[in-house]
Order: sequence, then C-alpha cells, then structure tokens
Amino acid sequence: MMARLIYGKPVADRILEQTKDEVDAFRRRGLPVRLVSIEVGENPAAALYIRHQRKCCERVGIDLHCEWITGEVAEDELVEIIHEHNEDPAVTGILVQRPLPEHINELRIQAKVHPDKDVEGMNPANLGMMLYGRPNLVPCTALAAIEILTSTGIDIAGRDAVVVGHSEIVGKPLAFLLLDRFATTTVCHIATKDLRSKTRGADILIVAVGKPYLISANMIKPGATVIDIGINRVPVRDERGEAVYDESGRPRMKTVGDVDFEAAKEVAGCLTPVPGGVGPVTVSMLMRNTVAAAWLQDRSRES
Ligand code: NAD
Repeated sequence: MMARLIYGKPVADRILEQTKDEVDAFRRRGLPVRLVSIEVGENPAAALYIRHQRKCCERVGIDLHCEWITGEVAEDELVEIIHEHNEDPAVTGILVQRPLPEHINELRIQAKVHPDKDVEGMNPANLGMMLYGRPNLVPCTALAAIEILTSTGIDIAGRDAVVVGHSEIVGKPLAFLLLDRFATTTVCHIATKDLRSKTRGADILIVAVGKPYLISANMIKPGATVIDIGINRVPVRDERGEAVYDESGRPRMKTVGDVDFEAAKEVAGCLTPVPGGVGPVTVSMLMRNTVAAAWLQDRSRES
C-alpha cells in the first residue's frame, strides 16, 4: 500500500493564521512584535532562510528588521550588537543566522541572546528547560517535526520512536520533545552500529542527517510514520542514470531528503516529501516562537 504523504503547507498555513491573530491582538494593545534577523557574512542557505522569513513575517504582520554584518566582524562587536537588541524594549525577538564565520564562537553568541528573545530556542537556558520538560522557547525544526507528526493524528505515547541525527539544533531537542510525549525514544548518529536494526523497529522514524538516500526502504518498518528533515542538493539524472545539464553546461540539481522517497513510499504508512514537508512548517514555527517571545516579555513587563 502507498504511504499517505504529509505535506507541510496546510500545517504551516494553519499555524500562520493562528499567529496572525495573535500578532493582531498585540497590535490592538499597542505592543511591538519585532524580529531582528542578523546575518553575518554571506551564505546562500542563510539568504534563502531570510527570504522565507520575510514572506512569512509580511503575511502575519511581524515587523522584521534584517541586519547584515560583515563577516570580518569581531566576536566582541557581535556580542555588543546582540546586547543592544537585548536591551531594546521594541525588539521582541532576535535570530542570528548560522553558520557563523569560523573565528566566531557560535555557542558564546547563542548564549548572549536573551532567553526570552531567543526565537530559535538555542540559548543554553532554553535548551536546559527542555530537559526539565518545561520548554520555554524551542528550536523551530524540532517543533516543526512534532507539529507535522501530530497532524497525522497518530498517537505518539507508547510508540517506538527513532531519531537519526543528534545535533543540538534538531536531533537532541526532538528526542526530548518525543520523550515528553511518552514515546520510547532511541537516538542514532554517525557511530551507531547497524543503523538498519534500529530504524526497522521504529513506529515513528525521524531523520535529520544531511545524507541523501541514507534511509532505504528496507530500513523502514512497514506502516511506520517517517518524517524526513534532511535537505540535500543532488544532480538530476536521466533514465540511464546520466547527469542532466542545463543550457550553460552546469549539471541540473534538485533537492531531496535523507530518505529514498520513491522506495519509502511503498513501505511507510505516512511520509513527508522533501521539499514540501518539514521545511514550510519550520518557518511557521519561527513565527509562532516570535509571538511566544513577545508574550514572554509582555508577561515580565507586567510582573
Ligand atoms: P548536523 O550536521 O549538525 O548533524 C548531523 C547528524 O547526523 C549528526 O548527529 C551525525 O552524527 C549524524 N550522522 C551523520 N552521518 C550519519 C550516518 N551515516 N548515520 C547516522 N547518523 C549520521 O546537521 P543538522 O544541522 O542537524 O541538519 C541535519 C539535516 O537537516 C541537514 O540536511 C539540514 O540541511 C537539515 N535541516 C532541515 C531543516 C528544515 O527545516 N527542514 C532545518 C534544519 C536542518
């Protein structure tokens, strides 16, 4: 039987509608919802993410302020810029695009964003609250995977969940969110022996690695729910397996996930496509987090 495909757009649309209502409520009270998005140096992936941010902020009415800083900036200078935004009551959310230039300590920068303005949920205090099962602001992609999972209607409690990938921004926070929902959660990574034996046992399989076709059909339990977070660019091939070139002689490229989508469709119960699955939901979660951050500051103003 063919898998039910879970598209991100309807999930994202619903979240953006809810977020717009909340932003409107802030506006009616004369309160700011302002996101400062800081880009350091040039990076095509960051530029693409900023384009998505612009589109979504416009749609929900969040006041987005994009700030570009030269890649030569000293770490202390960047810390000072963040400090100014932390202190500014008109700024309710701060996002520092990654990757940062090599001379900048990413962990230090993440720690400098005020926890109540940290719309990416990467401040150590926010990551720590996840451990206690009392999340404050949570990394957007991990939230997106849970939101998409919930949208399928399957029960998470009691299920065997496997997360492949253990990064701070996706895999680890996701594992905590699954544990909080009472999934029996296994985390796999680069050093996992016999990955297939782990993934085959998963009722819920979530993959965030960045390796195209890592998960083949025989690594999926029949009927499992499979969420593919990976984003990879691979060359387009014709039916003979040859690379296809564009008019300027460059190989044509396409975006795929970490799961062999065509083969997995025949085995999985539910499956997210790439592109069009988790991606759109991630940006909508950033919008939701931005409003949540504005609420946190509103609450601390009142107390
Ligand atoms: P990362 O490089 O920080 O982490 C990769 C993880 O994969 C590590 O835990 C590593 O141990 C594990 N890994 C590597 N090779 C493996 C293998 N052969 N078997 C098992 N595990 C292996 O990456 P990240 O930032 O977590 O991103 C992962 C993927 O998710 C990337 O493709 C990225 O582009 C994508 N991503 C998507 C979104 C979205 O919104 N859809 C957001 C963030 C990241």
